Amino acid sequence: MAILTKSLKANSTLPQLKVIRLDDNDDAMGAVSQPTAEFLVELARSSVELETATPHEILQWAVSRYAPKFTMATAFGAEGMCIIHMLAEFAPETPIFNLDTGYQFAETLELRERVKARYGIGVEMKRPKQTVAEYEVANGGPVYSRDPNRCCFDRKISVLQEAAVGFDAWASAIRRDQTPDRAVAPIVGWDKKFGLVKVSPLANWTKKEVWSLITKEGIPYNPLHDEGYTSIGCQPCTRRVGLGEDDRAGRWSGFAKTECGLHNS
Ligand code: SF4
Repeated sequence: MAILTKSLKANSTLPQLKVIRLDDNDDAMGAVSQPTAEFLVELARSSVELETATPHEILQWAVSRYAPKFTMATAFGAEGMCIIHMLAEFAPETPIFNLDTGYQFAETLELRERVKARYGIGVEMKRPKQTVAEYEVANGGPVYSRDPNRCCFDRKISVLQEAAVGFDAWASAIRRDQTPDRAVAPIVGWDKKFGLVKVSPLANWTKKEVWSLITKEGIPYNPLHDEGYTSIGCQPCTRRVGLGEDDRAGRWSGFAKTECGLHNS
């Protein structure tokens, strides 16, 4: 059984994170790390201390604590673009990846090139083993239209589970005011689904703060946001929202589903 020791920078006032105990099979693809009770207590303490920190400060804390085993998954949403912008300032070497389901909008994929041009950061595209064509042939057609949970698992969750191997922590771009599930997200917590520490630097931010930063800094963003798409996922599962609708009403419209499964347990 492997033991990882976490050391804290000497000048930090935050409590020291001590151990993560990994599964016996931690070398196996998709194996999930297991935290000790002490580690969870220290994570919770850190999260409380970071409640009043700025997103910059939270990201700097995460980088100082976990890099080079700190990563970020992005769908190139407005919030994710803010985090990429911040990381570009002080930790551009942070590995960033996109879960490329094969169903994303062309405008989303083009953002990868705009990030490269603006920041020199190459976002890695992580793809399922089967192409869309192979997947649909194997399943008698599109799975998203009859079982989106399974499609999200096959095209996103399982891909992230593999991508997480070798990392200790990841950044997520969720905001607490987006959904009831996200409302209880800690700044820093244990993500048991992926066996990683999950850091949410924008948890306390509002949509207004996100767009203020984008406007002020000229951060690249998905042009679909200007066409009524408030939350952008895969093309078949995303529609424009109407006046008065919730920002995420355009995701999996017609299904009870509200999350792809990356951010709920
Ligand atoms: Fe499949 Fe839709 Fe989930 Fe994309 S968002 S992985 S198309 S169900």
